[in-house]
Amino acid sequence: MAETPAKPTECPICAKPVTEKYRPFCSKRCADVDLARWLGGTYRLPTEESGPGDGEGDGAEGAEFREKQD
Ligand SMILES: [Zn+2]
Repeated sequence: MAETPAKPTECPICAKPVTEKYRPFCSKRCADVDLARWLGGTYRLPTEESGPGDGEGDGAEGAEFREKQD
């Protein structure tokens, strides 16, 4: 397997090249913006319940966040 050089990603906030220090953002400002979105509820939170027995096939989005705790 060939080594893949760490390719600079785009900042999810402003699409500028990501800075190593502030990954995955380009700057502290964008990191703060992302945090503010979380705190402000801009991101859709899994609070909607479809009803009893109907939410088992809906765990894909949650798994994405659980990876960070590993
Ligand atoms: Zn940015």
